[in-house]
Parts: sequence; structure tokens; C-alpha cells
Amino acid sequence: MPREYPHLFIGGKWLPAHGEGVIEMPDPATGGVFATVPAGDAHDVDAAVAAARSALDGPWSRLTSSQRGAMVGALASRLGAAAPELALVESADTGRPLRDVRGEVARTADWLQFFAGMADKVVGRSMEVTGEMSAYTIPQPIGVVAGIIPSNSPLNLTCWKLGPALAAGNTVILKPSEVAGVSLLELAHLVEEVGFPPGVVNVITGAGPLIGPALTAHPGIDKISFTGSVGAAQAIMAGAASSLKRLTLECGGKSPNIVFDDADLESALNMAVFAAFKSSGQSCSLGSRLLLQNGIREEFTAELLRRTALVKVGSPLDLASDIGPQASATQLAKTNRYIALGKSSASLAYGGGTPPDLSGGFYVEPTVFTDVDPSSPIAQEEIFGPVLAVLGFATEDEARRLANSTQYGLTAAVWTRDLGRAHRMARGVEAGLVTLNCYRPVSWMLPYGGMKLSGLGRENGVDAIYDYTENKTVVIHHGADPLADPYDLASR
Ligand code: NAD
Repeated sequence: MPREYPHLFIGGKWLPAHGEGVIEMPDPATGGVFATVPAGDAHDVDAAVAAARSALDGPWSRLTSSQRGAMVGALASRLGAAAPELALVESADTGRPLRDVRGEVARTADWLQFFAGMADKVVGRSMEVTGEMSAYTIPQPIGVVAGIIPSNSPLNLTCWKLGPALAAGNTVILKPSEVAGVSLLELAHLVEEVGFPPGVVNVITGAGPLIGPALTAHPGIDKISFTGSVGAAQAIMAGAASSLKRLTLECGGKSPNIVFDDADLESALNMAVFAAFKSSGQSCSLGSRLLLQNGIREEFTAELLRRTALVKVGSPLDLASDIGPQASATQLAKTNRYIALGKSSASLAYGGGTPPDLSGGFYVEPTVFTDVDPSSPIAQEEIFGPVLAVLGFATEDEARRLANSTQYGLTAAVWTRDLGRAHRMARGVEAGLVTLNCYRPVSWMLPYGGMKLSGLGRENGVDAIYDYTENKTVVIHHGADPLADPYDLASR
């Protein structure tokens, strides 16, 4: 039986949606229905905005920053305690292996704790403008923030936004994906237990193309913090234009994983397989383009293929599974479409099919293409499935050109023992995060975000909280003498 979530969380109450429809969230492992959630619409957005605005103008704004931080910290503790249960729900919901999700959800409490600690460290600056005039800045909350959340890692990516938004004094409306994200409704129960004033955190569900534009264009929402695909980000940017909303946009990637022939090949291999297939290919930071220097290309590819054949595909809840299914039938169709494109433009070196015995769910084999044309769709476009494109290069310049040849710029990894080359590549590669001789560690302390079509703004790190503030400048004249009359009007 599907899990039933009949209510939205608005103004501290569990309410039915305005309409009667429900959204059926898929069960990726079986192809059935995992859960039903209300199909919210623009009326529910209005209700959530009204609740968030009234909380903003009410008790929430009267708390000190330390008190706000303490509440975010209390949410962190509850989340930490509930993490094992939440991980089970999220793994089944998203299709990402429990093995990955368990650790991720447990660590999500650390994100909230980090930003809880930042709440009373948000400070302005003061400056002397002239001898008789000084100024100071106040980083104030922006207002109502809408967090639009993708289908992978819903809890973790929510807390990247929720933590700094609340710590800085904003109120929040969260909208999970219609594909996966019931864990946000579970999170709302924890918000309730902590005792946040009603309306400080609201969770509404609904179809992205319907409820998304209602959020984006709503005059009562001051900022959209979005994670998801480039297409949705572009729609949000266009919709937000009329009110010049503040935007943080975390989008996709086609990240290069660049291995020079002097690298520690064992480390590079361990991470190449993981980077290509982790989270069933449903990660923004996949190393989905493997760039191998020609001297090691043949040997490295052979070992990569041997290891890929050992990757175990299975139920997300089976702790023995290395990768699980795709999150939805739509994503499976997309992955299969790219596999078909790859078969016509490159050599299929491994995978490309449905694993035997797993035909009911949205499963696809880990797939590797070699002899890939750098301009072909499988080398240029984000697939968001476990599909790896292997390309060769001769020189450092060629590696950099290839790395920068897509419209994305989220992450890049460089493997070399040549220190100068590592730093030259770090400077030259167009990516918001470059890792040298390692693969992306995910941490609350590391600023994260994309260049080019991979996004706008950065999340995480000590500066992220300021993206949830408006900087107000206050100027004061403290001279003993009256201000001069610029037009000399007094003497006329
Ligand atoms: P998606 O764009 O389909 O959906 C993301 C969210 O946007 C969902 O809540 C959806 O309902 C909503 N949405 C859809 N259309 C909208 C519209 N017109 N207006 C407003 N909201 C709308 O993405 P997805 O499939 O859920 O997630 C996968 C994508 O997210 C991939 O591209 C991945 O790379 C990216 N991602 C990026 C990061 C990052 O930190 N950069 C992290 C995770 C995922």
C-alpha cells in the first residue's frame, strides 16, 4: 500500500490542499506507487505565503539571533535522532541506495548545526565616511524564502537552504519534487515538535510546472532558492524577473574527471567508478566525463570496465546494492534515450541494458561508452543516470579545453602528481568546485555552486548565510556643526 500524506503543512497546521487531487509519487524499485501527496495549487501557495509573512512580522522577528540559532540547533538534534527512519523513507522514495542515504541523512543534522551556530555571528561593518559622518551596515533577513527542492537528496539539499534561511531570520516555504521528497513532510513534523512559531516553516506539495510558477511570480515571496535542472531554473529566472526576486540557482553538471598519466592511478580508479555511478547516477556532481591522458588510457579503461562489471545493481534498501533504480519512469526513459544516442555515436564498452531480474523497477545497468565524440550529446548533456563517457587527451591544454567544452561548470576533479599542473588546472577549469587528487567531499563548510549553466550563487560555507540577508546601510551625521546648505538658500 502506498504511504498516504493527506495534508500540507501551512501556518503550523496540517491542512488539506485547496483542490482534491493527489500526486502519486513513484516507487522506483517496483514501478508502482510509493506515496500519495496533495496536489497543491496557487491557492495553497497564497495560504503558505500569508502564513510565512505573518510569522515574519510576528513572533519570529522578536527572537534574538541566538534564540533563532537555538531553535535551528534543536531541529538539528531531532533530525539527528530521526535520521535512521528518515533515511529508510528517503532511500525508498528516491531509489538511491540506503548505504549512501543513511550517512547523508545523519550528516544533514550537521548542516543545520553549522548554520545554527552562524545565527549570532552575522555581523555588519562600520566605516567612517568623513570626520563627521559614519556608517554601519545591518544584514537583515530578506523576508519569505521559497525553497524548491529536487528529486535527489531532498532532505540534505533542503537543509542547505533551511539552515541559513532560518538562522538569518527569514521564514520559509518548502516545495519538494513531485517525483520524490515525502521526507520534507516528515521534516515538518520535527519542525512542529521543536515549536517554531506557526508559519516560520511551511511545506507544500504540488506539480512543479503548476505550483512552481505560482511561487516564482508571487509578490509575497522575496527569494527563491532552487536546486534542480537548468530548464526549471530558466523558467524560475524568467518568472522572478517582474519582482526582481533574489535567486540562488543550483543546477546540473557534466563534470570532468581528469586523469593525467603521472597520477596515483589506484586512487583515481577507485574514485572514477564511484564518481560515475554513485547515487544510481542521480547526483549533480557525477564525474560523468572521464578524461584520460593517452599514455594510460587503454590500461585504465580496461580496469575501469572490470570494476564496473562488479558494481551491484539492486533494491535501494538492500545494503549490498551499490546502485539502485532511477527515481522515476521519466528519468529512466531519459537515461535510456541517451544510451541509445551513445550507441549510435560511440562504442558501448559496458552495460546499456536492464539488469536481469530487475525489470519491474526503473533500473538500468552502469554503462560505459568509449571512443566518445566530445561534441556528441553523451559528452555534452547531463543525463542524471549511471552513464559514463570516456574521452582521451594528449596535453594539459587539450585536457583544459575538453573540460571547458560544455555549457556546465559545477565540479571538476584533476589527478596528477605534478603540483604546478594541478594548480594551473584548478585555475583554468571552469567549475565552481575543483578537487585535486580527490573526489568531491560534501560538506557544510565548503562553498558549493556552479559556473555557466550550472547555477547562480553558492551554498554552504560561512558566507552562505549572507545570501539570505539584505545589506542595509545606515549613515549618521555626528558633527557638532550644522550641515552646510548646498544651495546657500539660507542666505538668499
Ligand atoms: P527538476 O528541475 O525536474 O525539479 C526540481 C524542482 O523544480 C522540483 O521541485 C520541481 O517540482 C520544480 N519545478 C519544475 N518545474 C518548475 C517550474 N517551472 N518552476 C518552478 N519550479 C519547478 O529537477 P530534478 O529532476 O528534481 O533534479 C535533478 C536536477 O537537479 C539535475 O539537473 C541535478 O544536476 C540538479 N541538482 C543540482 C544540485 C546542485 O547542488 N547543483 C544538487 C542536486 C541536483
